[in-house]
Parts: sequence; structure tokens; C-alpha cells
Amino acid sequence: MPVQRRTPEPDTEPTVSLREPLESLRATFRGTVLTPDDEGYEEARQVWNGMIDRHPAVIARCSGVADVVQAVTFARDQGLSLAVRGGGHNVAGTAVCDDGLVVDLSEMNGVHVDREAMTVRAEGGATLGDVDRETQLFGLATPLGVVSKTGIAGLTLNGGVGHLRRKYGLACDNLRSVELVTAAGEVVTASADEHSDLFWAIQGGGGNFGVVTSFEYTLYEVGPEVFGMFVVHDREHVAEALRLTREFAADAPREASVLPILGFVPEMEEFPAERWGDPMVAILGCHLGPTEAGEATLAPFRELGTPIGDFSGPMPFTDLQCLLDEEFPDGLNYYWKATYLTDLDDDLVDVLVRRWEACPSKLSTVDVWQLGGAIADRPQDASAFWHRDKPYMLTFEANWEDPADTDANVAWVRESIDEVRELPGVVGGYGNFPGFHEDPSQALFGENIDKLVAVKTKYDPENLFRLNQNVEPRVSEEA
Ligand SMILES: Cc1cc2nc3c(=O)[nH]c(=O)nc-3n(C[C@H](O)[C@H](O)[C@H](O)COP(=O)(O)OP(=O)(O)OC[C@H]3O[C@@H](n4cnc5c(N)ncnc54)[C@H](O)[C@@H]3O)c2cc1C
Repeated sequence: MPVQRRTPEPDTEPTVSLREPLESLRATFRGTVLTPDDEGYEEARQVWNGMIDRHPAVIARCSGVADVVQAVTFARDQGLSLAVRGGGHNVAGTAVCDDGLVVDLSEMNGVHVDREAMTVRAEGGATLGDVDRETQLFGLATPLGVVSKTGIAGLTLNGGVGHLRRKYGLACDNLRSVELVTAAGEVVTASADEHSDLFWAIQGGGGNFGVVTSFEYTLYEVGPEVFGMFVVHDREHVAEALRLTREFAADAPREASVLPILGFVPEMEEFPAERWGDPMVAILGCHLGPTEAGEATLAPFRELGTPIGDFSGPMPFTDLQCLLDEEFPDGLNYYWKATYLTDLDDDLVDVLVRRWEACPSKLSTVDVWQLGGAIADRPQDASAFWHRDKPYMLTFEANWEDPADTDANVAWVRESIDEVRELPGVVGGYGNFPGFHEDPSQALFGENIDKLVAVKTKYDPENLFRLNQNVEPRVSEEA
């Protein structure tokens, strides 16, 4: 049968008044239904990225799975576009939409640890901090990200790259199961044994397949004390730090990971005021083994020169997870985009330094994430997450205050990404740092795209879940 991709209809206003349907929604909904006239609506429509200014017709702040089913059914029956909000931290701002309905999970943030099974189950609105708090009570953790305020949902569904990545893999690699509400309003469990095609797809395929109401992850013994590194060197050590990262990556132990960040000294009391705004390289890293071993392993990064600041040392894992929290306040303007590197050769180092020097905002950074280790253990087709074979991820993160500077900052990221992608071995994109989803889905999913389309067609044939890095369902021409 000839096939074509379904192109989403442009978002449309509901043709009939929502008043009556909303009354019946409110009559049984256990959480809160907010419309533009309601107190709390303005706050509820905000997301982390200050660039996003959308006005949903309805925000359905769910208190449980039944509310999620009702909200999804309502959006579908009323012909409303549907956004899903986990932690509201994706830079693309797809957690909210204009004129449609937001399934808001922010109050569904319960976390339960099963110490015997070594698993944790967390609801879809939980943040990294919510999970770490409960798991670290028992000296346990699951791989998530590096900033505690981020939502687990978007992060996990698109991959999830954190401090535990090289030892235990991506967040999505550590899922045991999820509970999910489909476009048809059905509640299903997806795991290796049930709906295994769906389980494969949600491990990296993003929010395309339904609303995940809870995630079940594998736990590991971590810390509670680990060796954390955050050392800041000045301009003259930038290229050296990137070259050292390459040497380090050649035989680094899996317990260790590093993330050099090219930026500018922040205006924080931890740094001498006369250095504020100076070019710098900060190296964030950690080692999960004995802290003495960690200190020795990461020493070369701290000894590159006399640091402007060095905040490294043994620290509780939960402190490591919060180290960057203050750097990314709610409501600033953000535009972030990522690609992958097969090497960090000298030509690339030169380009990165040059692009960083051209950056229009002193709040912005160029980050190189060391990957490898457990991430690369799984075959590329073992889950939807395709680029697991790459040893590095590169992100350009534009952060700025004045909306008048938006064009320059967005252009800096786009031009930088375009330029590096011209180089050999620089490929793909990452759903958690997606810009505004300009890249084709193939760039993220590689050869996994066909299977993703098949799963999408099975579980969401009408493309209800399309405000994301969209995988379009297949439709027959007769349809
Ligand atoms: C300060 C900061 C630090 C970050 N650090 C890291 C990091 O260390 N590692 C990393 O990998 N990423 C990192 N990220 C990126 C982060 O992973 C993404 O922004 C992620 O999408 C955030 O998840 P969220 O639930 O907050 O997203 P939201 O904005 O709430 O949602 C984004 C999209 O995810 C989907 N979605 C959300 N919740 C659900 C759900 N329950 N069910 C189905 N679909 C859902 C929807 O399609 C939605 O549009 C960071 C982001 C920020 C802002």
C-alpha cells in the first residue's frame, strides 16, 4: 500500500464553545483546570525558558492517572492541540501551546524507592532533585542529568545524559517500565515484556507516544559521597583543556566523566570581582569510586594552571547534582542546540574556540560532554536513542537577558552548529537540546526512524502527540 507521511494540521481554534465541555471536565477532574480568566493561569503558563510566551486555552493540572486520561480524551474530542508538561524545562518550550490544552503533570511528582528490588518509581512531573532526594536517603541513585531542577520526563524520554552516564548509561537505558496514557486514552504498561515496541520507542523517541505518568528505573549504590570537580581556568588554558579531555577520554575509567565548559566568569561572590566576565574554561566532572581515586584521576584538569576558582573535592552526590542549579534561573532567554562528535581533533578545537569567542552574550557557553562507557555498550538499534556510539556531545548554549538580543544569540547558535556540522565526524542532534526543533527527526534517530514511524502509527495514528521532535505517523493514501 502506498504510504505518505501525515502533515499535522495547523493548530486551530475549537469550533464550538468550550464552556459546556469544560464544565463537565471540571465536574469530575480531581486536579485543577485553569483557563485564561482563572487565578494562577498566568503562572501556570510560564515555562523555564523566558522566550516562550504561549497562551493555552486550558491547563489541566493533573493529580493522577485518571485526570491524565480525562485531559487527553478532552483534547482529542475537542480537536485541541495537546502539549505535555513534565518539568517545563525543555528549551523548545513544547510543554505549552497556544490555544490548545496542556496536560500539566507538575503536581504528579511522587517518588517511591523499592530497596529490595533496587528500583525507584517516579511520577511524570518529578524533577531530578525529587528523585535524588528519595534515592540518596538509601545511598542509591539512577542516572539522570546534571541540574536538579530539570524534569525527569522530557530528560528520560529523549535520552538523559548525567554524571552517572559512563558507568551506568543514559537515563532511558535504566528504565524498567513506564506507565503511559495513549492517544486513545488507554493506560498501558510498557516494559521489555509488555508493549515492548512502545518500550523500545520511549527510550529516546521523546514524547511522541503518549503521556508517561510514571517511570520505573534501576538503582545503583552511589556515594553518598563522591569526588566532584568544578575547576575554573583562564583563557590561556581553554584549548589545552579540550586537548586534555581528548587524551583523558582515550582510557578514562567509567567511574569518571568530564564536561569542559567554555564561557565567561560569572558575577558570583565565589569569584574575584575583577575576574567577572573574563573568558574561562570550567571543567565539571566527577568520579564515583573512592574519593582518593577520584582526586588522583581528575588531578590533571585541576593542574592545568593556577585556577581562578576550584570548588572540587569530596561532596555528597546530592550537592554535585545541584552544583549548577543557580546558573540557569527561570525566565531568562535560552536557545540551546547540540550535535555529536566522533573526535575532538585540533581542527575542531580551533573552530570551537573561534565560535566561542564570537558569542554575543557573556552568559553563554560551549560545552563538550564526554560520553562513551556504558552508553556505547548497547547496540544503536537496542532503543530509539541512535547516537550512543559517539564519544562526545557538543552543545552551544545561548543564555541572555535582553529580548532585543534574541536574534543575535539565536543566530550565534545556529551558525555555530551549521559550521561544525560541515566538519567530518560531526553529526546528528539531541532531543533534550533541540533548539526549536528545526532539525529533521532523522538527524536524531538515524536508522531507527522507520521503526519509530511504525510504533507511532500503531499508538498515535492521528499524531495527537505532535508538539515535540515529531515522528509523523504513516497513513495510507486512501485514509
Ligand atoms: C538547566 C537545565 C539543565 C539541563 N541539564 C541536562 C542534563 O544534564 N542532561 C540532559 O540530558 N539534559 C539536560 N537538560 C535538558 C533536559 O533534559 C530537557 O530540557 C528535558 O526535555 C526537560 O524535561 P522536562 O520534563 O522538564 O521537559 P518539558 O519541557 O516539561 O517537556 C518537554 C517535552 O517532553 C515531553 N514530555 C514531557 N513530559 C512528558 C511526559 N510525562 N510524558 C510524555 N511526554 C512528556 C513532551 O513532548 C514535552 O513537549 C537540561 C535542561 C535545563 C533547562
